[in-house]
Amino acid sequence: MMRSALRFLRSVPVACQRSMSQSSLAGKVAIVTASTDGIGLAAAQALGKRGAHVVVSSRRQANVDKAVALLQSQSIKVIGTTCNVGKGEDREKLVQTTLDQCGGIDILVSNAAVNPFFGNIMDSTEDVWDKILAVNVKAAFLLTKLVMPHMVKRGGGNVIFVSSVAGYQPMQGLGPYSVSKTALLGLTRALAPELAHSNIRVNCVAPGVIKTRFSSALWQNEDVEDELKKQLCIKRVGEPEEIGGVIAFLCSEEASYITGETVTVTGGMSCRL
Ligand code: NAP
Repeated sequence: MMRSALRFLRSVPVACQRSMSQSSLAGKVAIVTASTDGIGLAAAQALGKRGAHVVVSSRRQANVDKAVALLQSQSIKVIGTTCNVGKGEDREKLVQTTLDQCGGIDILVSNAAVNPFFGNIMDSTEDVWDKILAVNVKAAFLLTKLVMPHMVKRGGGNVIFVSSVAGYQPMQGLGPYSVSKTALLGLTRALAPELAHSNIRVNCVAPGVIKTRFSSALWQNEDVEDELKKQLCIKRVGEPEEIGGVIAFLCSEEASYITGETVTVTGGMSCRL
């Protein structure tokens, strides 16, 4: 048995063996917020397939149960809990549940966002701004602050923020949301140098239009989708798995020299600040 395993390993090229171990997240514990659907679920899947123990969460228990069952059916090590990231007590519960059930924290993917407003930015109200900034920006920072001491105990970790192409070029009708996504680019850069001292890398992913419920207005109508495709080099809307894989890469040893960076994953939409 031992001899045949050795023979197999010898037959695998060295470069391949190295990349297998560097992309592995075995033994890591990963919190992914808003992970019962769309990009968050795909990120949980990608991290779990690389061996991480993943913690899925969102506001609704029924959604959490469904996501846990799906990931378990794919042999992913997973637990789930409800967490509305806009609520301090929920964020604390998410972290404590993770520590109690998984024994530590190595990865935080801060993926949750809301957009309660569509229209001219001058018509947006203080309530709209409070809600968007609280959930999309402040919660991302406060969760990072909560998990940081636990990553330090593990000798380091990874934080990933999910921004948007709208953070580079505000989308029409989505002014406050777009501004919140630009803020995440700044947050990534502000945190990276401070957390590098603790061996924590901080990176960000800025998706283009990805096929999820959140963006359905952009791809469910054929005319709107055709107009959108004109802005893309790759003439299709992205899939959540195409963001999940990039997130898992950024959390892996393959990305060990990347921090303070935002990776745009847009099918070739132009992104410039
Ligand atoms: P989605 O498919 O609609 O999924 C949204 C998820 O968020 C659900 O699991 C939902 O579950 C959860 N959720 C909503 N509000 C929450 C809150 N306050 N706290 C915790 N969980 C919450 O959305 P998505 O498209 O994957 O979007 C995920 C991220 O990608 C967002 O940050 C979004 O801005 C970004 N993004 C998306 C696109 C795109 O084209 N789809 C493009 C660029 C960026 P519950 O209802 O159970 O809470």
